[in-house]
Amino acid sequence: MSEAAVSQRRVLLASPRGFCAGVERAVATVEQALSKHGSPVYVRHQIVHNAYVVSALERKGAVFVDNLRDVPHGATIVFSAHGVSPAVRAEAEIRDLRPVDATCPLVSKVHKEAVKFAEDGYDILLIGHAGHEEVIGTTGHAPDRIQVVDGPHAAAGVTVRDETKVAWLSQTTLSVDETIDTVTALRARFPDLANPPSDDICYATQNRQNAVKLIAAQSDLVLVIGSRNSSNSVRLVEVALAEGAAGAYLIDGPDDIQDRWLSGVMTVGVTSGASAPEVLVRGVVENLFSAGFTDLQTVGSVTETQHFVLPRSLMD
Ligand code: SF4
Repeated sequence: MSEAAVSQRRVLLASPRGFCAGVERAVATVEQALSKHGSPVYVRHQIVHNAYVVSALERKGAVFVDNLRDVPHGATIVFSAHGVSPAVRAEAEIRDLRPVDATCPLVSKVHKEAVKFAEDGYDILLIGHAGHEEVIGTTGHAPDRIQVVDGPHAAAGVTVRDETKVAWLSQTTLSVDETIDTVTALRARFPDLANPPSDDICYATQNRQNAVKLIAAQSDLVLVIGSRNSSNSVRLVEVALAEGAAGAYLIDGPDDIQDRWLSGVMTVGVTSGASAPEVLVRGVVENLFSAGFTDLQTVGSVTETQHFVLPRSLMD
């Protein structure tokens, strides 16, 4: 965008942005477990993919572990928002741990879809990123039936038992457009490909991608606040670039902004991934104002009302 088009250096703030209902619930689950059971409360992997959130919970007494072997017998273990496989639950039981499940209900929904398709004899093509925690957890619900398809290019390598019994599911935090391309490629190979009973890309992913499109089209630069292992945050950068932003960067917080990015920039778009807290957005906006930006506008009109209650084991 040229200087002639905008008289003041401005910040466009995407709405909605930041914490989704699943992340709110996961963070509150750890806090409530600490309040109910006392410190330490163990958490398997990062509760949500955000360094700031994880550090804040560590200071309150949460201990993050990669392996259940590192959790003392009888201790409380929280499963992260990304979900776990039945094998992990079984291991927790064998080790006599007290599980608290912070799996996002929208991820649990995909687990149920996978189990149902598998019971009905389908091969399931799970569109997602191999190695991502959510994909590992979902695959574990039907390991003999699920294969991961990591984008349209991977469709050619898929083999199935019966071409009339093939279904697709997806990771909840993908790019909507990329998922459509992958489904199209899979359907070209398997015309009978069955759809999930409802959308797997979650409302928060969809809304944040729609909102970043609105600001990207008007911005010289888009800053997405989120950690590198946050899939939905990484997708927001890709969507911003695809939508015409001249530059887009993923930043953990205000300190990551580089002066050279702002040179000659009149309009900066700012958004945050579903696991990034609003305090980081405020810090980024403050830094931009210190750097000479003077106008702040919020862009977007969707109001999110989704709310998930805490796990039942914490409600007693
Ligand atoms: Fe749940 Fe979507 Fe948030 Fe993931 S991004 S925790 S699926 S609401």
